[in-house]
Amino acid sequence: MYSNIAIQREIYGSGEHQMVRQALIDFLNQEAIPYQEEWEQQKCAPKSFWQKMGEQGFLCMDIPEQYGGSGFDFSFNAMILEESRRLGIDFGQAVHSDIVAPYILRYGSEEQKQQYLPKMVTGELVGSIGMTEPSVGSDLKALKTVAEDKGDYYLVNGSKTFITNGYVCDFVCCAVRTHKGTPQEGISLLLIDKELAGFTTGQPFEKIGIKYQDTCELFFEDVKVPKSKLLGEEGMGFKYMMSDLPRERVGIAIESLGSALGVLEKTLEYVTERKAFGQAIADFQNTQFKLADCAAEVQVYQAFLDRCTELQVQHKLTTEQASIAKLKATEMHGKIVDECLQLFGGYGFICEYEVARAYAGARVARIYGGTSEIMKLIISRGLFKDFYRAKQQAKRMAAATH
Ligand SMILES: Cc1cc2nc3c(=O)[nH]c(=O)nc-3n(C[C@H](O)[C@H](O)[C@H](O)COP(=O)(O)OP(=O)(O)OC[C@H]3O[C@@H](n4cnc5c(N)ncnc54)[C@H](O)[C@@H]3O)c2cc1C
Repeated sequence: MYSNIAIQREIYGSGEHQMVRQALIDFLNQEAIPYQEEWEQQKCAPKSFWQKMGEQGFLCMDIPEQYGGSGFDFSFNAMILEESRRLGIDFGQAVHSDIVAPYILRYGSEEQKQQYLPKMVTGELVGSIGMTEPSVGSDLKALKTVAEDKGDYYLVNGSKTFITNGYVCDFVCCAVRTHKGTPQEGISLLLIDKELAGFTTGQPFEKIGIKYQDTCELFFEDVKVPKSKLLGEEGMGFKYMMSDLPRERVGIAIESLGSALGVLEKTLEYVTERKAFGQAIADFQNTQFKLADCAAEVQVYQAFLDRCTELQVQHKLTTEQASIAKLKATEMHGKIVDECLQLFGGYGFICEYEVARAYAGARVARIYGGTSEIMKLIISRGLFKDFYRAKQQAKRMAAATH
């Protein structure tokens, strides 16, 4: 079925890509798919599964060999995201491999890289990212968690919410306010280990979808974080977050593509087997047209997202391009799972069916990693950048001549 929908995709065409993809499919069929219901009840995938992913080399694939990784490029990470979601598996590896590890690789000291990266590759350490707070989500500049400078350490007080991997993680890469000044200048990133006194978590939230990707609150009460845990420079946290968000966003877009593809495949199978009025559901022209539309959309997004992946491999993907990818691919995802669910009739509403799970899980893609509205804000700012720059310049010139 897969080859009927997918276009020729050069970016994943190498022998190594094909080998890794097949190994991942075999692994997830054996080690993840049979355990999903159990994990859903526990509201998280167990640490042992993370370690199995690590043993197979599926975590942090683009981390260089000197830090224990395979040294592949981002296209391998992208393939892992897409393929896992195609199979309906989503346990928070994107946050670990595609957000936290790259932050440490890019901004960490040598000591931090040695301490965290090799164990993130093996799954011994699980990372999470702590930006959102109970009163602050989209407007990150307004975050309130404070890290007071106490000489050798920062004294951290505050809380974070909706943190993916928050429950299973061993540390959080946490955005904190280190000093006053402009809201942006005051933000820094700290690597805060779970074992530190005063760092606690809530129970994983009961969510409508992606039920075993654990999401919870983090609380910091007088947590003493050694100065050596500052990531990069003090006051640069906001800039770091903004420059790394394109990767996170294109990753979410790729996950949406994978999930849409998986649901479409399942639906193609289902409609040929299910009968109504003496014929297969696939025989109705309505079914054929709906699925033709879905397959056409998936192929268009494959081409666009493969190009975005290429740009990300070359570190050329812009904030605006990544926002377009996230905005449109997550909308496509929502639309396709909705259309496909309809073709399953009543069974589409039963959680046992993957299409039902995918339907519930798709909703969050338009919220996390920056909402669709924030994506539109970024895209439109890009569109009008030159216009506002020219306007400001004219204003300055007018002021200078008076
Ligand atoms: C399952 C899940 C996992 C998550 N994982 C993480 C994680 O690992 N780490 C982390 O830090 N966060 C995480 N988040 C948080 C997520 O990134 C935020 O929920 C998201 O950024 C939106 O913030 P908010 O919930 O505070 O909504 P708000 O910012 O309160 O927004 C509410 C509504 O107002 C709209 N809005 C806000 N500002 C504007 C504007 N300027 N113009 C127009 N509309 C606007 C929004 O689009 C939205 O529709 C997760 C969330 C979920 C649900």
